[in-house]
Amino acid sequence: MSDAIVKDQCKFSTYGYACGKPVEHGRYLCEEHAAAKCSSCGKPATHGCGFCGQFVCGAPLCDECTYGTDESKSSGAWGFMNHIHVSKPEFADKHANVRLKSQVATLREALDECEAYFDNRADADCDQDGYIPNEEMKLLTLVRDALRKAGAK
Ligand SMILES: [Zn+2]
Ligand SMILES: [Zn+2]
Ligand SMILES: [Zn+2]
Repeated sequence: MSDAIVKDQCKFSTYGYACGKPVEHGRYLCEEHAAAKCSSCGKPATHGCGFCGQFVCGAPLCDECTYGTDESKSSGAWGFMNHIHVSKPEFADKHANVRLKSQVATLREALDECEAYFDNRADADCDQDGYIPNEEMKLLTLVRDALRKAGAK
């Protein structure tokens, strides 16, 4: 019987070098790397950034992201200056979409809270000119309108 033991090691690789930390059988990432999130989009990372400035960057990245140079800054790529982590072009729209959706969800949650708050306090008076909404009712109308336009209601 062969004694070839395939050691369970972390496969997270940076600049071509696997992390190599021992891992539980059947796992392929060590604890640190299993928890690593992509520096660009926040998804689980699969490898380290291989960019070599003064040293290898090693920031966690997923398969859909890579590194680049921030061209909006004038000093150019020197060492890690302007070194950024970005979505690969073919995934940029997808990532932007995911980001937008989560931003919209956050805004909706906040607006839902506002709606409930204003709804409890909205009131209107009637005088000879007619119907006079209080501030809360005006804001409630605004919030509800925004939520409706955002497709939430
Ligand atoms: Zn590892
Ligand atoms: Zn990513
Ligand atoms: Zn990097």
